[in-house]
Amino acid sequence: GHETAWSVLTAPVAGGGVLVSFEDTTDLVQASQMRRDFVANVSHELRTPLTALLGFIETLKGAARDDAAARERFLAIMEREAGRMNRLVSDLLSLSRVEAEERVRPSSRVDVLRRVQAAMTTLRPMAEAAGVTIELDDPQGGPAEVLADSDQMSQVFSNLIENAVKYGATGQRVTIGIQREARDPGLRGPAVVVSVIDRGEGIEAVHIPRLTERFYRVDSHRSREQGGTGLGLAIVKHIVNRHRGRFRIESAPGKGSRFTVILPAAPMS
Ligand code: ADP
Repeated sequence: GHETAWSVLTAPVAGGGVLVSFEDTTDLVQASQMRRDFVANVSHELRTPLTALLGFIETLKGAARDDAAARERFLAIMEREAGRMNRLVSDLLSLSRVEAEERVRPSSRVDVLRRVQAAMTTLRPMAEAAGVTIELDDPQGGPAEVLADSDQMSQVFSNLIENAVKYGATGQRVTIGIQREARDPGLRGPAVVVSVIDRGEGIEAVHIPRLTERFYRVDSHRSREQGGTGLGLAIVKHIVNRHRGRFRIESAPGKGSRFTVILPAAPMS
């Protein structure tokens, strides 16, 4: 467990004397510790590609100056590292935008089916290159409306589908299932449920509760190799929370994983 932190507050009281009260500031202390950890993590994540860039710039100015083949190779690496920084900054901006809006209830009617289809279209070339087929399992069909921020919905599904493609085994299928009018014990009314299922390596149970933490990765080498920022699932969790929904992760190591987003259905129009 965590150690409890206490603040001592003193205040003068009428008639003389001092009122001393104790306040449990554990949450405050933890929040500021988390903020420090976050800043340290961000700095580290940015510094890695930046160090590589600076190193290659030096090499290009010196030893590799007259070697066309080396120049090509180094430029390709520099492009990849700059791309990594770019993704990291975009993900950080998304995260801070979602956090800033956390208390604002989204109010547009958004068809989840269309957002899922848009994400599938965007990710299809990447999936093809990885030898993965993305399929939609939606026997019912038709609109599946929720009150939402449309861009944020797209982001949820593209983050989940991209992970399923990245961590799903080559040659396997990724299935996206949609249910309408589902009941969920955590929600009062009907729900729209989207599951993203892969047949990849799966995730050991010990990691599951931590996957939505910023920069938590099961295998950081693998994640970086795949161009991951370690922020994708943290963003998903925040967006789902903002939409008063639920996010569930289930996995069978060696068999695959299922990421489920449960959102309150939009009221009948
Ligand atoms: P990343 O950019 O590293 O993919 P995410 O926040 O999207 O960051 O995911 C965090 C970690 O969760 C990943 O590094 C990976 O270890 C694990 N993970 C996410 N999705 C899957 C999946 N479909 N199958 C197996 N592991 C996954």
